[in-house]
Amino acid sequence: MNIIDLNRNGGIGCNSMFIEIGPFRLLIDSGLDPKTAGLEATPEFSKVPESSIDFIILTHCHLDHLGSLPLAALRNPLAPIFMSKASAFLANRMMRNSINVMKRQREELGIHEYPLYTHKDLQEIESRYLAVDFGQTKTIRKGEDTLKLTLHRAGHVAGAVSVDIEFNHRKIFATGDILFTNLQTLKGADVPQDKVDTMIIETTRGLTKRSPEKNRAAEKERFISSIKHTLEKEGSCLIPVFALGRTQEVLSIIHKSFTQGKIPKCPVFCSGMGLDLVSFFDRISKKTGQVQFNKHILKEMGVKPTPRNLTPGKNPSSKGIYIVSSGMLVEHTPSYKLAASMLGHPTNTILFVGYCDPETPGGELLEANQGDDFLFKVLEFSTKIKAKIEKFDMSGHADREEILALTIQKDPRVVVLTHGDQGARDWFKEQLNERLPNTEVLDPVPLSEYTV
Ligand SMILES: [Zn+2]
Ligand SMILES: [Zn+2]
Repeated sequence: MNIIDLNRNGGIGCNSMFIEIGPFRLLIDSGLDPKTAGLEATPEFSKVPESSIDFIILTHCHLDHLGSLPLAALRNPLAPIFMSKASAFLANRMMRNSINVMKRQREELGIHEYPLYTHKDLQEIESRYLAVDFGQTKTIRKGEDTLKLTLHRAGHVAGAVSVDIEFNHRKIFATGDILFTNLQTLKGADVPQDKVDTMIIETTRGLTKRSPEKNRAAEKERFISSIKHTLEKEGSCLIPVFALGRTQEVLSIIHKSFTQGKIPKCPVFCSGMGLDLVSFFDRISKKTGQVQFNKHILKEMGVKPTPRNLTPGKNPSSKGIYIVSSGMLVEHTPSYKLAASMLGHPTNTILFVGYCDPETPGGELLEANQGDDFLFKVLEFSTKIKAKIEKFDMSGHADREEILALTIQKDPRVVVLTHGDQGARDWFKEQLNERLPNTEVLDPVPLSEYTV
């Protein structure tokens, strides 16, 4: 079997793995690197000749896995694209948004190759989406040969899958982005524990050690009580969230806390793509059961759109809970504007529930101290940090020990490391060398071909 990691930038980057096994040639994912822009952000497809891919697998709809799918699909016009049923609902919705963002960046940053694809391209490739149930095995034929493909529930986000490939009794398992814990809106991963020959693992949290007192259940309770305390002192809560998955999960947690009396009832505001995706989640829930979400909770909570007339430094006119994207307070987003309004007031709390890149305003805010000056560059507004800033470890990725345990259980001959910074990959390599001394651990150099 041959593999090439097409993620030219390494790290988490733009995920895309080329695999050749027997006569079959396939791609797992085709992402965009959120840390860079233009063609630099896309996988290096030139490493694989055009029209040579037999099929593509999409693990889930985060843009670091999905964002360049039309490029891979148009280079390989006959390749079907396998994905879960929920992903088939979400993929084009996510990429339509991506086209709009690219169009804006073309104007603002002068990136001439943007948008990398059009709405028409999306329509064209949609006919090749093959939605597969979790656990259902597809047999793919090429000449006399057959390959078996099974997608398993991977938790992480609506529709996320791990991938099982079997060819001539040789099994390959790719975790994709994976979470074992059950969320309120999403069941955790359900993957087989059987032995495999080759395992491709995500290493996102390789450098993150979870302290026992910060287990997921405790973090959720701490999150709820922080909201309660803020509301009790007549402050407002800003919860910056990613649109896909996290918005709906936070809405659902708050709804449940209202009904259980853990949080006093108050106005709830939500806007942006996260609010848009609420109807998608409702539909996916009803049609596939791959998420658990009912949009009526918004009506029950009286969720309102975020007010538009915000002034930096001035609290929004109504107190309450604001659940808005982006999760990292990226400039020009509702969460960025609301943070500029709310940060200078000591009764407010900003609650981060997901990862913030250190170079984003969210990441900078998490690094800063109370009383520091904080500059909202694009608003040309500076304020002292007076609101409480809190971070909760409610990651959508499994803890490193859980992925390590699964790998030991599956006892592969070869492990391929993906989706992690260098230090995170190194932790897995060290642990696996110690725990599975007969297993080869490969941390592939991007764009190099390996025979394993
Ligand atoms: Zn993901
Ligand atoms: Zn990812």
